[in-house]
Amino acid sequence: MVGLFDNCEIQITCPKCGHKTDKRIRWLKRNSKYTCVCGNTVNIDTKQFKITIAEMDKAYFDLQNTIKILHE
Ligand SMILES: [Zn+2]
Repeated sequence: MVGLFDNCEIQITCPKCGHKTDKRIRWLKRNSKYTCVCGNTVNIDTKQFKITIAEMDKAYFDLQNTIKILHE
């Protein structure tokens, strides 16, 4: 399923050097770590993140369905 927020970017900060990287949510759904420009591998805790995104997607689609019902 394509999520509503897939193209949104969130900023990840490397804990080692402080370098900031923008990653799209679509990318974050498939990856749990990335390699910073400094060579440090940053592990991203995506578990809670994915739950939150799924809830946001669901809330949006629920809202759309509610609006459709109101217009019928
Ligand atoms: Zn770094």
